[in-house]
Amino acid sequence: MNTEGKLGIALVGLGNYSENELAPALQETQHCYLAGLVTGSPDKADKWKKKYNIPDKNIYDYKTFDTIKDNPDIDIVYVVLPNAMHAEYVIRAAKAGKHVICEKPMAITVEECDQMIAACAAAGKMLSIGYRLHFEPHNLGMMRIGKEKPFGSIVKMTAENGMGDTKGWRLDKVLAGGGPLMDLGIYCVQGCRYTTGMEPVAVTAKEAAKTNPEKFTTVEEGLSWVMEFPDNIKAACTTSYSKEMNKLRAEAQNGWAELSPAYEYRGIKGETSKGKMDFPQVNQQAKQMDDFADAIKNKRPTPVPGEMGRQDVKILQAIYKAMESGQRVEII
Ligand code: NAD
Repeated sequence: MNTEGKLGIALVGLGNYSENELAPALQETQHCYLAGLVTGSPDKADKWKKKYNIPDKNIYDYKTFDTIKDNPDIDIVYVVLPNAMHAEYVIRAAKAGKHVICEKPMAITVEECDQMIAACAAAGKMLSIGYRLHFEPHNLGMMRIGKEKPFGSIVKMTAENGMGDTKGWRLDKVLAGGGPLMDLGIYCVQGCRYTTGMEPVAVTAKEAAKTNPEKFTTVEEGLSWVMEFPDNIKAACTTSYSKEMNKLRAEAQNGWAELSPAYEYRGIKGETSKGKMDFPQVNQQAKQMDDFADAIKNKRPTPVPGEMGRQDVKILQAIYKAMESGQRVEII
């Protein structure tokens, strides 16, 4: 903690999300600040240290990372690496005695999630997942509509999330754990879970035909799936790495609510059968990190814990199993 009472965050992995969203957001936070870096690239370390005034003693590479345990400036480690590397770095951070934020998807298997949760529990440290939309007013509005039922009970959900240009590790199953489902479809799973406030009990899924098989050799290009929730609520979802889509919609007994775009960093818009939603735009990442720092300071639970990330990974794995087998897969 610094003299202003802000907790120090070290970002692990200085890629797009760290550079363009998290580091700028950390200039706006009230309860935490950018205190350290973990990067394999000396060039990036140099550029970032000048830009954000970070002392050399708070800069690590992947080999020296474990010595972060001796650094009192760092309270929280934020893992922003390719999906398959999350488990290793979360566990090493916990063993170094740090609280941890891990990007979504939490990991590529449920077994890894269990090990991550256990490591943080054994260290007595908190673990949260980078679910920024739990701090975004329109998405919070959807949660309220599911809970307070102003349009009656929800009867059906639809959710779509896709983007048109993808490259690098996201196309490599070993590093990404899968294709657009792991990266973008997870927002649809989340959206349907937090809007209904329920857990899916079974899924069916179908892979989209590949329009570009040379590009999508190890991962799916697109995927549609249906999640069955209690009370006969069905959620029809689609994700893609070749089509732009961004929507979350709930049909209820006496009305509807829709966000479009629903999952962007900025410019989320919402409408219900009663008219447009009127909520402010916020810096989602700043709110998310501030909430975690506040939770640590006040010893209260985070609303986006490791268990929530684990449940999503469990559902994603069931969706892949349904896609591969062509069968309905129950989620136990
Ligand atoms: P990126 O490719 O831009 O950055 C990845 C970083 O990891 C790079 O700095 C790279 O150098 C480093 N790295 C270390 N070892 C690597 C390896 N073996 N292969 C490839 N890169 C390696 O990716 P990103 O978009 O910043 O995504 C990072 C994580 O953040 C992912 O888990 C992603 O799902 C998540 N993310 C979350 C959001 C969100 O809205 N919550 C948005 C974007 C990304």
